[in-house]
Formats: sequence, structure tokens, C-alpha cells
Amino acid sequence: MNADERRQALQQVAAEVASCTRCPLHEQRTLAVPGEGHPDTEVVFVGEAPGYNEDQQGRPFVGAAGGLLNELLKAIGWQRQEVFITNVVKCRPPGNRDPEPAEIAACAPYLRRQLQILDPAVVVTLGRHSLGHFNPGARIGATHGTLRPVDPETGAHNALTYAMYHPAAALRQGSLKQTMLEDMCSLPDALTEARRQRAERAPTAAVHGLEPVQQSQAAPVVPEHPAPAAGHTQSVPDAAPAQADVGPEAEPQPVAIDIEREVVTIHVEPEEEPVDENQMQLFG
Ligand code: URA
Ligand code: SF4
Repeated sequence: MNADERRQALQQVAAEVASCTRCPLHEQRTLAVPGEGHPDTEVVFVGEAPGYNEDQQGRPFVGAAGGLLNELLKAIGWQRQEVFITNVVKCRPPGNRDPEPAEIAACAPYLRRQLQILDPAVVVTLGRHSLGHFNPGARIGATHGTLRPVDPETGAHNALTYAMYHPAAALRQGSLKQTMLEDMCSLPDALTEARRQRAERAPTAAVHGLEPVQQSQAAPVVPEHPAPAAGHTQSVPDAAPAQADVGPEAEPQPVAIDIEREVVTIHVEPEEEPVDENQMQLFG
């Protein structure tokens, strides 16, 4: 699939989600929240379920938890528009209760199709429910910050999961913010490793039309001869970010993420500043 086909296929899923009545969550929703992001991305973030703000706007992670997620992405030089962000369940459970297993099962085909279309290298699970969907039985405390193989049944047939705490948990329990920052700072390296493993599994297959990434000692993460159309402006992936002293002063080196820099959102037209009023300073 080329980028246009992927964009169209994602829009088709979003349209079906918008009018879905497969589970009782449709009864009380304001808007369904299919997810949004770049159709060429290598990294998909999967949260639990929309909350109040998401239900109002039809967009994922636009409330306080989204503000923290944006800040964490900024810390590694990535932007929301470069990744894809969605949830296990696409409609808000009343009162923000946990989604029920039957609701998760009813909604799973949408996430499966999104992952089949996007074919990411890394699925970042945010929180316990998302982790449980991709790695049944895994415990967040032991798993966060690590890569795991993912069951191809989930739709991510050539990806690794990277577990993180849920940003809402870090807002409730402040000490988790630092943990999330450290895990986020390791995500570029995790992406590099996931790319390496993908290339090993399919050494001749081009990923999203790009040449497989050649790794050598301390090699840049961008391909040596990037496809001319791909705008790898976010390069400089030299050394790994130092993990020991991650803190306000730490400036992790960005690792290029192989997408074109065009801004595309699936559900709505991109706004200049998607999350604003709830925007918070991670280190403020
Ligand atoms: N929490 C989630 O899990 N998903 C959202 O989209 C917002 C908050
Ligand atoms: Fe459909 Fe999923 Fe919404 Fe349930 S949560 S109504 S399955 S889109």
C-alpha cells in the first residue's frame, strides 16, 4: 500500500467507527474517537479509551493526559503529527469506567485494521488495558520500557510492543512522570531495535517504500540513500540518549522517524496547536 491508499483505508475505518453501534458504548458517546496521525508512521500509540474531552472533540488524547503525552514526545523531538495515536476502545465508557472485555472484543476489529494498514515497527502501549490487549498477562511494572513480540492476531504483524504507563496515571501519581520520561527517552532506541529486527525478518523487503535501514557501529538511523521524496529532516541520530541522568537538562538526541513531514490527521483537519488549554509543562 502506498501512502494515499493507507490514508484512504484509515479514513474508511474512521468513517465506520463514527457510526458504529457494535457495542453499548455507542449509546452514550458524543463522538467516536477513531484515532489520528500520519499514515506513513512507524510508531503507533495505543491508549485505553476516550475520556471526556476526547468524546467531545472526537480526537484522541486532547485532554490533560494528551498534554502530558505531547510534552513527552517533545522531549525526544517528536511531534504528535508524526506518529499515530488511537485507543483500544473507540467510544468513551460512561464516567470513565474501565472498558469491559466484551466492549474491547467488539471494538478490536477496528484497531486490528488500523494496525494492518499502518504496519508499524513499534506499538507503544499506554497503560494496563492496552498492554493487556497486546501482551496478555504482562505486568506494567515489570514490562514498561521494554520491547516484546506482539501477537500478529492484533493486526500488528511485524511489530514489537513497547510498554509505557498511562499518562493519566502519571498525572495522578507524580513519580510516574519521571518514569514515563525515561521510558520515552528510550523509545528512539527501541524504534531502532525494532527496525533492525524487521530488517532481519525480511531483509529484502522495503518498508513503506524506503530501503531497509543499514546498521553499523554508531550508524545513523536514517538510510544511507533515503528515497528522494522522503523528507528526513529530523536526523542527527548519533549517540543514544544518556539514560542515567535524564532530567530537565537532558537533551536526548532525536532519532529520525521515517515519514514525510507533511501533516496529516485522519479524523479532522490539523489545527495549529491541537492541545492548548490543557497543555502542561512537564518540568514546570
Ligand atoms: N486516555 C486514553 O486512554 N485515551 C485517550 O484518548 C485519552 C485519555
Ligand atoms: Fe463500536 Fe468500538 Fe464504539 Fe463499541 S466502542 S460502539 S465497538 S466503535
